[in-house]
Amino acid sequence: MAMKTHQTPKASDLLFPVPLSIEDREGAYRLHHTTTIAASPPFEALADTAAQLLGCKRGGEDLLFKHQEGFGDEEYRLTISKVQVVVTASSERGAFYGLGAIRKLALLNDNILPACTVADKPAFQWRGFMLDCVRHFFSVDFIKKLIDTASLFGLNRFHWHLTDDQGWRIPIDGWPELETVASKRRELQYEDGRTYGRMYTKEEIAEVQAFAHSRQMLVIPEVETPGHVSALLAAYPEFGCSGGPYEVQDRWGIFSEVLCAGNDDMLAFFDDVITQVASLFTDPYIHIGGDECPQTEWEQCPKCQARMRSEGLKAERELQSWLTSRISAMVHAHGKRPIGWDEVLDGTEEMGLPSDLIVQSWQGVRGGIEAAKRGHQVVMSPNTEGCYLDYRHLDSEEEMGNLGVSTLRQLASFTPTPPEMDEHSRTMVLGAQANLWSERVLSSRQAEYLLFPRLQLLAQQLWNPQEGEKNLEKVELLIRYCEKLDLACYRGRAE
Ligand SMILES: [Zn+2]
Repeated sequence: MAMKTHQTPKASDLLFPVPLSIEDREGAYRLHHTTTIAASPPFEALADTAAQLLGCKRGGEDLLFKHQEGFGDEEYRLTISKVQVVVTASSERGAFYGLGAIRKLALLNDNILPACTVADKPAFQWRGFMLDCVRHFFSVDFIKKLIDTASLFGLNRFHWHLTDDQGWRIPIDGWPELETVASKRRELQYEDGRTYGRMYTKEEIAEVQAFAHSRQMLVIPEVETPGHVSALLAAYPEFGCSGGPYEVQDRWGIFSEVLCAGNDDMLAFFDDVITQVASLFTDPYIHIGGDECPQTEWEQCPKCQARMRSEGLKAERELQSWLTSRISAMVHAHGKRPIGWDEVLDGTEEMGLPSDLIVQSWQGVRGGIEAAKRGHQVVMSPNTEGCYLDYRHLDSEEEMGNLGVSTLRQLASFTPTPPEMDEHSRTMVLGAQANLWSERVLSSRQAEYLLFPRLQLLAQQLWNPQEGEKNLEKVELLIRYCEKLDLACYRGRAE
């Protein structure tokens, strides 16, 4: 009888994102429930996570997380031999990505880890994804599944879109109508008056954050100002220019009802909201929106016009930047940094903006380029370059998706620093984000289909940029990952 020989695949064919440096070696380490895990003191908590994720136990040094000075913040080295697996890093973040590489090899190769040496670190510090939980609501379990998956591919920022025209999802003490009115919308496609939506509870928000932190991911809550506030105005009509009545919207689009910039009570409300959000969310950033704010109501509103006179503002567009600065100051008061969509640049030619405001460029890359020139740090998520994952995979009516097209090919060759950007501006780019708006995403399976494998391709470009063609050759591999991770995904053409 001939012995059947099993060809172990090479680690370099399995890992994604493709590491900065990888050398395949002879042999493999078989991960087993008797495999023991030990760690240097700073990595004790991570070793517990590793034991749980890999189905191993704490104890001996079969798998060792070793602390050593001299590595970058998210950098690690991984050595897999026939007898031992060693992750070396200076920070828990770095060690975590070493664990991620082990998990990926185990996942794709039935717990047999091909021997190799990996030296790896990311190219960009901001590697994010946004989920719109307003237009459609997503459960904490699903959010945790996405965070876990995203972190496995090296992403480290979860931008949580929590307020909009169609709902308000953050509990704020002292403002009960946010829950009773703003968190629900009447579903107009039914005639029985049924409603859609709810708030997240404080406990759920804490649970998402604790989980995200165990996956080395920061959570960035978004509170929209001064547009996209119909839900808020339905609850508190006095914060709008006309006084209402307003409705929580059950349609999609840009609505002319916005915050009344002349109303001091509205500012006091947001001061309270930002204060509570700053304590509910423990990470250093708060996204304050700023996109798609029509100024027609401000033109007609005596209070807004009075504000413009008292502040010496020449046009309504300057009123938006005045408001952005006010809300940013509220964020600063709690030691955090504001982020705004690129419209925050409009009307600021003379007034400027707080210099630490991070600008997220969604209308193509030009907002990001302009912001960087003006000294702002930038997160790129251009809808023209593939970063809008609610767009269709293909220009086909058969494909699900909304408004536009973002192809695998675009993601595979994406760069956060476009060629037209000058040398200094490039240093202002923190990284990029993919955004999943959910107007037409009703369920978690639909969300997965739109996210994968596009989000994985973006992760590669933020971790270790490759030629687009090389990435496209890996799409089959990405689909295998999705199968193993129980993720729905797109399996069609790249363009
Ligand atoms: Zn007004």
